Parts: sequence; C-alpha cells; structure tokens
Amino acid sequence: MSSDTIEAAVDLVRGSDDVVGFTGAGASTESGIPDFRSPGGLWDRYDPSDFTIQALRRDPVAYWEKRLEMRENQEFDWNAVEPNPSHEALAALEAAGVLSTLITQNVDGLHQAAGSENVLELHGSRRAAKCLHCERRLPLETLDRKLTEEPLPPRCDDCDGLLKRATVSFGEALPRDVLMAAKRAATECDCFLTVGSSLTVEPAASMPRIASRNGASLVVVNLEPTGIDDRADVVIHAKAGETLSELADGVLG
Ligand code: NAD
Repeated sequence: MSSDTIEAAVDLVRGSDDVVGFTGAGASTESGIPDFRSPGGLWDRYDPSDFTIQALRRDPVAYWEKRLEMRENQEFDWNAVEPNPSHEALAALEAAGVLSTLITQNVDGLHQAAGSENVLELHGSRRAAKCLHCERRLPLETLDRKLTEEPLPPRCDDCDGLLKRATVSFGEALPRDVLMAAKRAATECDCFLTVGSSLTVEPAASMPRIASRNGASLVVVNLEPTGIDDRADVVIHAKAGETLSELADGVLG
C-alpha cells in the first residue's frame, strides 16, 4: 500500500544512503516549457514521424523547414527560460550529499543552470549541435547562424555532414556511455525519485523499474498517474515545484 504524503517521502529519502533523481518534461513545465504529451502538447499539433533521424536523412530540407516552422509557432522563448523550484530543490539535495545522480530526459539544461553537477542527459542537449557524419560537437550559435545565413540544410564545415541539435531524435540511439551510467545508478541506488515524467518513452521509462527490481524504494511525483504508481512506495500527484521544495525542506531542514 503506497502513501501519498510529503512526510512519507521525506522519511524515505532521509533513511536512504544513495538517492537517484529522474526527471521528465514535467520538471520544466513550471519554467514555461510545455511537455509533449499533455493535452495541446507538441504531439497534438505535429507529427513525430516528421522529426525522426530517418526523416532528416531522407529529406533534410523538408525536415528543417518543418523544424523552423515549429520554432516560429512556439509560444515561449528557449533563451528566456530559467530554473524553477523543482530544479533548485534537486540541486540543493545534491549539494547536501543526499542525491548522488540526476538522470534526466530533458534537453533544456535547466538542471545544470540550477547548480546540479552529476547530470546524465539521456536524450542529449539542445544547448549544443552535432554533425551526424563526423560526430563533431559545435556551439548552438554556429547552427543558428547557418540556419539564418546559409541555404538549408545546415552542413558541417569540416566534412559536409548534416548538422542537427545535440538532442536524441526519434529513431536515434541513446548515447551508450550515458545510458550505461544511468542503468548503473538506477541499479545501485536505494531510493529512486521520479519527477514529471509520463514514463512512456523507452528506454528512459525503464529506469524506475530497474531501481525497483534491485530493491530501491520508489517515490513518484507527477501531475497524472503513471504506469509505475502501483509499484511505488510514495505517489504524489501534484506540481513538482511545490512538492520538491517541501521535500527538500523536510530532508535538509
Ligand atoms: P511527457 O511529456 O511524456 O510527460 C510529462 C509528464 O509530466 C506528464 O505525465 C504530466 O502530467 C507531468 N507534468 C506536467 N507538468 C507537471 C508539473 N508541473 N509537475 C509535475 N508533473 C507535471 O514527458 P517525458 O516523460 O519527459 O517524455 C517526453 C520526451 O520529450 C522526453 O524524451 C524529453 O526528452 C522530451 N521533452 C523535453 C523537454 C525539456 O527538455 N524541457 C520538454 C518536452 C519534451
């Protein structure tokens, strides 16, 4: 029988030696970045198959035209987003030595902006760009400049390969070293805290199951029910910012 109180979550975290955090898009919605799957989200308005790695390779000009159209219609400014209380609470728990690792599906860099250091970005980062051919990483500004000043698609100056953001697209493999490190952290921890994820995107969604299978207690903070709720020790269906602030205050206070 699971609990739904912050006090129960505080007790679990306090009684654990190795707490691992795991975040999804819901950790950043209070910073103004919409998640993808809530009603009215991105995938209600666009077809995910237009943004796969295969779509980029098949017709790079069409891919970039759709991407730029999406960016034009976006109702928020990526450059103006800032960390919210959930990012700050997770950074405070790490700084205090409570949280060992933060696994994130987010690509927005807000955990690092809040001060988190041991962050495993399973789906890459939108704060950099990469060449699909020579795998060189380059600053986002270089990609943005090419998108405005050169004909589509943007190409690598070194090898003429296709450029894209350094995020993991549908159909693209996750960075192996990051995935291995995340699985190791999930296996070795004794408390796993999942925040703001629908837990529908694999293999990221398996992380709480891996932790639970290996004996860790499970805390779920999400606005809506998730597929792991029935296995969790504490399930809190509430906003992440307020909930994590209270959790950090209770653990550290
Ligand atoms: P998702 O969109 O599938 O699910 C988000 C979940 O967060 C939902 O279940 C929703 O109920 C919950 N939620 C929304 N606001 C919340 C809040 N304030 N407090 C608590 N819960 C809240 O997101 P996902 O599971 O991360 O998977 C989406 C994929 O899209 C990921 O691969 C991720 O890389 C990408 N993505 C990233 C960002 C970002 O970097 N900020 C934003 C959107 C999507």
